[in-house]
Amino acid sequence: MSEENGYMKALKCRECGREYPLTANHVCEFDFGPLEVAYDYDLIRNSLNREVISRRPNSMWRYRELLPVAKEPTVGLQVGYTPLVKADRLAKRLGIRELWIKNDTVNYPTLSFKDRVVSVALSRSKELGFDTVACASTGNLANSVAANAASAGLRAFVFIPADLEQGKIVNSLVYGPEVISIKGHYDEVNRLCAEIAGKYSWAFVNVNMRPYYAEGSKSMGFEIMEQLGWEIPKHTVVCMASGSLLTKIHKSYQEFSKLGIVDDSKYHIHGAQATGCSPITTAHKSSLDFFKPVKPDTIAKSLAIGTPADGFYALKVMRETAGHGDDVSDDEIREGIRLLAECEGIFAETAGGVTVGVAKKLIANGQIPKDDSAVLCITGNGLKTLDAVAGHVGRAKEIRPSLREFEALLGN
Ligand SMILES: *Cc1c(COP(=O)(O)O)cnc(C)c1O
Ligand SMILES: [Zn+2]
Repeated sequence: MSEENGYMKALKCRECGREYPLTANHVCEFDFGPLEVAYDYDLIRNSLNREVISRRPNSMWRYRELLPVAKEPTVGLQVGYTPLVKADRLAKRLGIRELWIKNDTVNYPTLSFKDRVVSVALSRSKELGFDTVACASTGNLANSVAANAASAGLRAFVFIPADLEQGKIVNSLVYGPEVISIKGHYDEVNRLCAEIAGKYSWAFVNVNMRPYYAEGSKSMGFEIMEQLGWEIPKHTVVCMASGSLLTKIHKSYQEFSKLGIVDDSKYHIHGAQATGCSPITTAHKSSLDFFKPVKPDTIAKSLAIGTPADGFYALKVMRETAGHGDDVSDDEIREGIRLLAECEGIFAETAGGVTVGVAKKLIANGQIPKDDSAVLCITGNGLKTLDAVAGHVGRAKEIRPSLREFEALLGN
């Protein structure tokens, strides 16, 4: 392990392979390709194995050699290691032999998988000497940056589209960051943030810190394999906004199998989007390797990115793993939320409704065979998107505090 960089080797361009120093930088100056963290796998092989991992505390940091911090992490030490739930009742409803829910609705501290990427991004930002962090967000990222920055004593600016759910806005404001609400959709927020990032020396977790930030998503895949008994699941269904999580789940499976921590096996990664914002799955269904940007119109606001930064690479992963992609309407999203809640007692946000709804379609179509096993990545908590389901879940039955009225109610 090098004194200065830990198990990381360099930032490497995904297009031309040119290497860059491990600074806050996300784009290749020759071809504008995205930069990605490259590791010294020979070094990692010597220190990381099943026994070592098993002895460590139950958090995402039990895989720290494969996460991009040079020294011990300093932010988000409790994040991750969320339950992998065997979902027998939902399996029966969807008509599949075996089904698992990776339940990031209870990720610490802000109840979405974004705490994984943020704990990495802020730990690395501190290593690089930043005192101000920022992000462009569809909601959950803003919540997580705000909370984790508060506990780390960092100054935070979070930029969000003005039309976000009330729950997501309040869940950012309460931690006391600067919350900047932009009159425009996410892609416009993101464009503004790229400009600001060029002018102010802040750590923008999903702009100049993106190569480090994105690696945090791998921990969801590492945990799935460990919790399945050190195995790669045959099918994984992942919802997509920028497409980054899907590509990093793939990378996690590749890394564990390259390091001999799991056996090599054939697997399929399926992508899920909302019909009102489905640039990636639409391209996949028409066998294109590029997507057409769209203007989002969906209740799944956390996934409403019309110009997905990793869309190209997500399409590549779906193609290379012979995975499928599909999308679901707002009504199907609500139905997915209800199914998960009624069968498993898990209340997911709209993104989870997208994942369940698309899984239902893929199983019904035979694109996920009925006698196989699948993992659904459920990425955020329903308490933050109450607006999406209120009015669609029936109403409480109101009576006076009288036994007679109660029994009259029971009677009919
Ligand atoms: C951000 C987000 C995603 C998708 O993230 P990408 O890596 O950008 O595809 C999925 N689910 C929820 C709840 C999110 O907040
Ligand atoms: Zn390049």
